[in-house]
Amino acid sequence: MHRLLRTGRRLGPFFLLAILFLLASCAPATTSGVIAVVDSATTVTPIARPPVVATGLPPTATTAPTSLPTGSSTPTAAPPTMIPTATITPSPTPDRNTLCSQRIPDNSLLTIVTLTYGLSRDYEPAGLVELSGYLPIDVTLGYPTQLRRVAVTPLVDMITDMQAAGLQPSIISGYRSYSAQAIARQKWLEKEPERANILSAPPGFSEHQLGTVVDFGSPELPEIVGQEDIEFHTYFYKTSEGVWLLENAHKYGFTLSYPFEAFDITGFFYEPWHFRYVGVEMAAHLHEQGISLTEHQLATEPPPCIPDPE
Ligand SMILES: [Zn+2]
Repeated sequence: MHRLLRTGRRLGPFFLLAILFLLASCAPATTSGVIAVVDSATTVTPIARPPVVATGLPPTATTAPTSLPTGSSTPTAAPPTMIPTATITPSPTPDRNTLCSQRIPDNSLLTIVTLTYGLSRDYEPAGLVELSGYLPIDVTLGYPTQLRRVAVTPLVDMITDMQAAGLQPSIISGYRSYSAQAIARQKWLEKEPERANILSAPPGFSEHQLGTVVDFGSPELPEIVGQEDIEFHTYFYKTSEGVWLLENAHKYGFTLSYPFEAFDITGFFYEPWHFRYVGVEMAAHLHEQGISLTEHQLATEPPPCIPDPE
């Protein structure tokens, strides 16, 4: 080193500059990675997701790691603990840097909707159909209920099998637009203020806006609860229909969105009547793992949007 510096002195300042340049370019690559993390933390909400330091990706890319082919560009990154198969990998949301109040998701069956990650008031899913064209009135109860076409055949198959087993499921609610959700919320606030938070989400934060969710009813519920006009009650889990759905809905691609034990994760109270169509493969996966879709999504996907300031 001493000789090197002496030679450097002979060669002048250009040599020293060259040495400095060489030293700088040998600095650990993670330095830029750390900067990227700090940058991205200012633009996205922190949530459990794969470490971004090792990827060396620019900040914008760190917001959508799950859409990248696994392992192809991140040889040093640890593999995710739960690897979804290709068919249950959610399709990438176009822009995760949107405010949630402006989020218009694509038509994926796996759009995240929680009390944190809401939907735009302008979002309306594609392919809504009227259920009365597919199910008898003793199931639809004469309500004008809509659902996305993709979920209708599995629903009809499931209800047909339930009826064959001697059950009498009804459908109390399906798609709800943002404004319909606002009306429903208001109704519950007036009718049962102490249960409004249990019975409805604020507009924009309901999975019903996705058009793939069904609220089921049972003729046994009034007697079990001891109230004639009851539509929704936790005791739905005690009804024959509730028991059957919990055991079998996944075979038709439906999953219970808000299980009893998942309140801390979903932010929703237990809703044993509320089932969401996610496709057979994902529903079976969730059933096998004993987790809710929200739990799965928050563990494996980056935030879908930026929560609006209060
Ligand atoms: Zn519901």
